[in-house]
Amino acid sequence: MPTPRQDAADHTFQCPCCQGTEFTDLYGVTDTNQDVPGKWSIVACRHCGLGALWPMPTPQETSDFYEGQFYTSDGKRFSSLVERLRHFAGYARGRTLNRLASRPGLLLDYGSGAGHFASAQRASGWEVHTVDPYSAASQEAARATLDNRGNPTLHYPDAHFDAISLWYVLEHILDPQATLAELLRILKPGGILLLAVQDFSSIQARVFRDKWLILDPPRHIWQFAPHNLDSFLLRFGMPRVALTRSSLEFGPFTILQSALNCLTGNRNHLFRMLKHSALPTKSGNRASLPGAIASLIALPALAPLSLITYFALLAVGSSDVFTAYYRKPHHG
Ligand SMILES: [Zn+2]
Repeated sequence: MPTPRQDAADHTFQCPCCQGTEFTDLYGVTDTNQDVPGKWSIVACRHCGLGALWPMPTPQETSDFYEGQFYTSDGKRFSSLVERLRHFAGYARGRTLNRLASRPGLLLDYGSGAGHFASAQRASGWEVHTVDPYSAASQEAARATLDNRGNPTLHYPDAHFDAISLWYVLEHILDPQATLAELLRILKPGGILLLAVQDFSSIQARVFRDKWLILDPPRHIWQFAPHNLDSFLLRFGMPRVALTRSSLEFGPFTILQSALNCLTGNRNHLFRMLKHSALPTKSGNRASLPGAIASLIALPALAPLSLITYFALLAVGSSDVFTAYYRKPHHG
């Protein structure tokens, strides 16, 4: 089993994917979504290309990013129309898992947020447990106890679940090795682990760099790509059994907002307008008026272009996000 990462205070750390210790400084970033004050760098592992936020936040800072910031009390992040679209996207998200599993069983959705995926999977016949240490909408939040490093103990028996899903969660976790080890403890042999993350090796990530909407510093600590996520999971003896890239719910909008960031200032004006009005930002400044107006003017031309670009890039195998499925072996 992998050993835990070194303390970030050492100013050196080990890549969780390849255990390399040499990183290249790529570019500087600030929080363009929720205005957490500070400046960071995005660094990349010289061996496997894994992106990381530097300096890394402390466990206390990571939890501060979410308490009262990320979700409203009912777990919703966006205006009601967008939340309704996310509800329907929940059904599309289950397709590959439902194909890989021989039959619906017991599913844990870890980092469940507002619970859209859970309700869609229940409708497909799964018994779903949701655990999210940072969302009040997660009814089983108490099943996770975080230690002072932010690592969870999950109060379930060994080999309990047929499938475990993490939709856009792994990139937020300070010590992904410790969390994965605990999740794999409660996954049955033959069970499926689903990991959805943004793709740092995508053309989108390389072109937009610090203006890429889903870079989302300082909440996203890690920037994975399919090849290094596979290396990471192989260290736990977990081979990949499927990979999907299409994401109509994220892809076109990510391209649109990232392109707007290049034209109207790197402030995610449009994205801020879509967020739930009850969600505070650190500065209280939601979107500047000139930037918001410029974004709305550019929208009619850029929206169809973004949709076309999304499909063109998908056709050459490049997508902002990907979903990887790993199966736990029956032995070893
Ligand atoms: Zn690496």
